[in-house]
Amino acid sequence: MTSTGAVARNWAGNVTFGAARLHHPETVDELRRVVAEGRRVRVLGSGHSFNLIADTDGDLVRVNALPRVFEMDEDASTVTVSAGTLYGEVAAALHARGRALGNMASLPHISVYGSVATGTHGSGSRQPGLADAVTAVRIIGPGGEPLELSRERDPDRFPGAVVNLGALGVVTEVTLRTEPAFEVAQWVQVDVPLTTVVEHFDEVFATARSVSVFTDWSGAMGTVVLKMSTDEPGGGAHPGTDWMGGRPADEPWHPVPGMPAEHCTVQNGVPGPWHERLPHFRAEFTPSRGDEVQSELFLPRNEAAAAIAHLRELGPRMAPVLLVSEIRTIAADTQWLSPSGGRDTVAFHFTWRKDPGAVLPVIAEMEDRLMPLGARAHWGKLSSRRPSELGAAYDRLPDFRRLVTDHDPDGVFRNAYLDDLLAED
Ligand SMILES: Cc1cc2nc3c(=O)[nH]c(=O)nc-3n(C[C@H](O)[C@H](O)[C@H](O)COP(=O)(O)OP(=O)(O)OC[C@H]3O[C@@H](n4cnc5c(N)ncnc54)[C@H](O)[C@@H]3O)c2cc1C
Repeated sequence: MTSTGAVARNWAGNVTFGAARLHHPETVDELRRVVAEGRRVRVLGSGHSFNLIADTDGDLVRVNALPRVFEMDEDASTVTVSAGTLYGEVAAALHARGRALGNMASLPHISVYGSVATGTHGSGSRQPGLADAVTAVRIIGPGGEPLELSRERDPDRFPGAVVNLGALGVVTEVTLRTEPAFEVAQWVQVDVPLTTVVEHFDEVFATARSVSVFTDWSGAMGTVVLKMSTDEPGGGAHPGTDWMGGRPADEPWHPVPGMPAEHCTVQNGVPGPWHERLPHFRAEFTPSRGDEVQSELFLPRNEAAAAIAHLRELGPRMAPVLLVSEIRTIAADTQWLSPSGGRDTVAFHFTWRKDPGAVLPVIAEMEDRLMPLGARAHWGKLSSRRPSELGAAYDRLPDFRRLVTDHDPDGVFRNAYLDDLLAED
């Protein structure tokens, strides 16, 4: 095991963690010792969050040096993997065995449990967030004691234990539901009027397995990315040259202006494996831009039109600091702290210039407008609000607080972020 006093930063470089020590245990026993001896312990996944959710002033642990687990259960249609494995690695290994995950986020570079812990999602009106596929977790809890929870055997606590913000301990293994592998054809339709997106919202987002609408809110147009399963009616064919008043892109396209399109997964309708089309970005390149910060708000789907009207009004305020924005849909799931928990959801994502001082006031204005519509913020991205204010958007927060307090009464896995979120009124 390596343990250092090295300074750790997140992927974007906007957060420097305050940890006294950074550990890379190579066995579960080493990990158990770190946890048993630690006063305050947090896990760092692949570090792609933009806020202080992974921070600690105690011991920061990475689980990516633990022995790799990849065990398929054909009868149950599941795979059990090490929690620190990157989604891209899990996806490629599954595909090689003829299986698939139902959905992926925009990038394959993120660790499985770091993603699940914050409620990470992709797009698709019939696709819930990534946590929905989790059927069991193995956790090293307080005192270094192992615990296994399963959706089937622990129906009361499991929905609270999946999107857990790292509050229950160090997840070492996770079991994911799989489905037969499938192929996807990706099309980019440019110059689609935002008014058309609003008027035909259900149709636009039902056109493909995964749909994203990109815009910078400065004009009246958006670019729609359709990721069409070749198994569905139409076989992945483009829905029509003038679909929704736009036109097919002339050449490969990157959502962030000025970035090379070769960083993106193959477009122009060339069918390919699900895991090489569902993410926007290819594993071998920097995803998105790198030099950026992000925020995202999740609203009940039926508030899409109202939210889009607010965001169009805010366009001029966003223009100096916004790189690009993305609209996605997510099917309701049952996890207590999932941003799409209990409701079909429309998500508004924002990739900003890496200038949090200039960006946060704009996010604050946006949150002032969208929180009254029921917005929830992404747990891993920037917000102008305190965690306790964000938690108020979740009916099941009191149940989550009880779950965490019962499981970890001494608060070993807490940090300032969770102390604020879980404080009693
Ligand atoms: C370029 C880019 C694109 C993105 N695209 C999307 C997207 O399409 N959809 C979306 O929803 N989000 C997206 N995100 C956000 C990202 O998915 C989340 O921030 C996610 O949490 C990152 O996973 P991670 O492994 O880096 O987690 P980290 O940031 O390392 O950790 C996040 C949280 O998980 C906890 N954690 C990590 N590992 C474990 C473990 N083994 N056991 C217990 N707790 C653990 C940490 O303590 C922390 O609280 C994007 C981020 C970037 C940088």
